[in-house]
Amino acid sequence: MNSHTRHHKIVIVGGGSAGITVAARLHRARNNLDIAIVEPSAKHYYQPLWTLVGAGVVDKEITERDEKDFIPKGVRWIRDRVVSLDPQTKRLSLDKGGVLTYDALVLAPGIVVDFDAIPGLRETIGANGVCSNYAFDQADYTWETLRTLERGRAIFTNPSGQVKCGGAPQKIMYLADDHLRRRGVRDAVEVVGAFAGTKMLGVPEINATLEKIVAERDIHMRFHHELVAIDGPNKVATFRHTQTGEAIEIAFDMIHVTPPMHAPDFVATSRLAVAEGPHRGFAHVDIHTLQSVDFPDVFALGDVAALPTAKTGAAVRKQAPVLVKNLPAQLDGAAPEASYDGYSSCPLVTGYGKLVLAEFTYGNAYKPTFPIDQTKERLDMYLLKRYLLPPMYWHGMLRGRM
Ligand code: FAD
Repeated sequence: MNSHTRHHKIVIVGGGSAGITVAARLHRARNNLDIAIVEPSAKHYYQPLWTLVGAGVVDKEITERDEKDFIPKGVRWIRDRVVSLDPQTKRLSLDKGGVLTYDALVLAPGIVVDFDAIPGLRETIGANGVCSNYAFDQADYTWETLRTLERGRAIFTNPSGQVKCGGAPQKIMYLADDHLRRRGVRDAVEVVGAFAGTKMLGVPEINATLEKIVAERDIHMRFHHELVAIDGPNKVATFRHTQTGEAIEIAFDMIHVTPPMHAPDFVATSRLAVAEGPHRGFAHVDIHTLQSVDFPDVFALGDVAALPTAKTGAAVRKQAPVLVKNLPAQLDGAAPEASYDGYSSCPLVTGYGKLVLAEFTYGNAYKPTFPIDQTKERLDMYLLKRYLLPPMYWHGMLRGRM
């Protein structure tokens, strides 16, 4: 067992979208900084395309690349997992037994997609028509299920609490509807959205569009429905009505599950975590400076940060430059001045070749950035997601260029 202690000026936990983007930008800003990234995975994923994997548009392999190719040169990669964090002594314990200390810490370990939170789900996912786009190794089973579905009921779930890309649970619902129509079997399949929440999306301008779409396409929405158990072999899902507490069983032929999600344990159990409320367990940072409210040498961004906006890669793209200005200022003894406005965006794919791009800031304030009507379904926005955003991610964002 390796129990040595190593020090780095800046330690970044997590080499996903946020960790790599921040490392690349910090390294560009000051190339003599001593930076280490702790990341256990040999692979890096472009998760936004998993929706299109599930819809049979792209192969999952194109969403996966080698992590080593994205660690900026000069930045040290520690291939390990953080298991505990003490912000008072500035120490991180690693799974393989080592200890890391830091002058400044960037938390970017994302959110945990908890397939074990629903009894019966782990046993049946990937079989019996039970699928999810929320994992690399599962997304292609969504497509297999969809392309072979002939009749019955297809359910699309959306849990309460924090999820990454809040639009993804419904994007696949619209794609499924479209695919079943193209195959001529839509009349034989009831499409049901079983959501724990009370509306399609928090942004009123986009919610209105989505309400119209579900009504026009005969998609049956059931709000206040929280998935609590799943019986794969018998094809029955159990929901709890979030207002009445009633248990509701619904039979399915296909069910796309968005599992409940939570903050990584080492963050949730640390003194950095929010103690109460909807962001409980996530990293407690100032929502504008991204600096910890209790420990000024700690910053957080991406899915792990307790920010009242949608958890997306698009949000990370706007958060990273703010953090990369404020963290060096903190190291220099200056006050953090850069401010994040809560920008996030959700490209709601509403069919093959159709997309409604929701862009917003804190308070679900609608903030379109293109000089077109973004409340409408558009082909150009679909093409942006399918063809432009992936290379922008791999070659621009992860290289600290955009
Ligand atoms: P991640 O990119 O998930 O990276 C977290 C990293 O931390 C991982 O590499 C992980 O291995 C590592 N890690 C975890 N625990 C530890 C630990 N203990 N120690 C060290 N390292 C650790 N976003 C959009 O902008 N547009 C979309 O259309 C979109 N669609 C999506 C569709 C789906 C199906 C999914 C799943 C996501 C989608 N997203 C979308 C969301 C987007 O992918 C995330 O918001 C984004 O990846 C968040 O970046 P992150 O760095 O915080 O987390």
